[in-house]
Amino acid sequence: MSDCIFCQIAAGQIESDIVYEDELVVAFRDLNPQAPTHILLIPRQHMGSLDAASDEDIQLLGHLTLVAAQIGRSEGIAEDGYRLLTNVGPDAGQSVPHLHFHLLGGRVMHWPPG
Ligand code: 5GP
Ligand code: ZN
Repeated sequence: MSDCIFCQIAAGQIESDIVYEDELVVAFRDLNPQAPTHILLIPRQHMGSLDAASDEDIQLLGHLTLVAAQIGRSEGIAEDGYRLLTNVGPDAGQSVPHLHFHLLGGRVMHWPPG
């Protein structure tokens, strides 16, 4: 998907502050951080949202989740806690149509979200 900004970030065509990458996933700092630590984790392979995932993606999604936990530890936010979430569709406010998980930490967050 050449017009997808997150595909372009994964391909290195758009600059980003990458904190982790491997053959399956890329993690980079959000351009407009909502917390002291705000990292986005994406699959390299284009997928519109979690709603587009299938059984074939179980290994990818498990891997991505464990990478998020590893980054939580390496960012030093695991002890105080963090939030890992993905917005799906318009009601959730998804603005970039490439599956991404937000890893947010470094401050107290409220529940339920607005
Ligand atoms: P969504 O609203 O879709 O859940 O989250 C999209 C996120 O992507 C937002 O937090 C936004 O700040 C971030 N974002 C959008 N464009 C870029 C970009 O070009 N680079 C980076 N690093 N983050 C981006
Ligand atoms: Zn994409």
